[in-house]
Amino acid sequence: MAYAYDENNIFAKILRGEIPNKTVLETEHSLAFHDIRPQAPVHVLVIPKGPYVTYDHFALEAEADEIVDFNRTVGEVCKMMDVQPGMGGGGYRMISNAGEAGVQEVPHLHIHILGGRWMGRMVP
Ligand code: IMP
Repeated sequence: MAYAYDENNIFAKILRGEIPNKTVLETEHSLAFHDIRPQAPVHVLVIPKGPYVTYDHFALEAEADEIVDFNRTVGEVCKMMDVQPGMGGGGYRMISNAGEAGVQEVPHLHIHILGGRWMGRMVP
């Protein structure tokens, strides 16, 4: 079964320049921008420019240069947002929601980088 990508999702529209975004960093294969409804002082979304729905889709089907670029962009954003633990920042949480059970709202792969406050424990 193939992954089905919806070209009309909001992040596809951002990538086509049809709606604005607050860009943090743009690279050849990735875009990082501020979440419109921030859940923490730092809340940046990193997306690949390619049409990938979820992280597993990307990890299984993206080219190696896209994967390297995407991961480096995540690292650069942590650096730019000053959340790197041990490097003067207080740390961060990375989340990527996938599908119905993962409560994914936008069907284009995105990693949330959240920081700037104590994030709380994920498991009690
Ligand atoms: P998800 O539940 O992981 O799919 O989260 C989607 C995220 O996209 C949410 O945190 C939204 O606030 C965010 N979002 C939705 N539309 C926009 C937008 O136009 N710009 C930036 N962030 C958005």
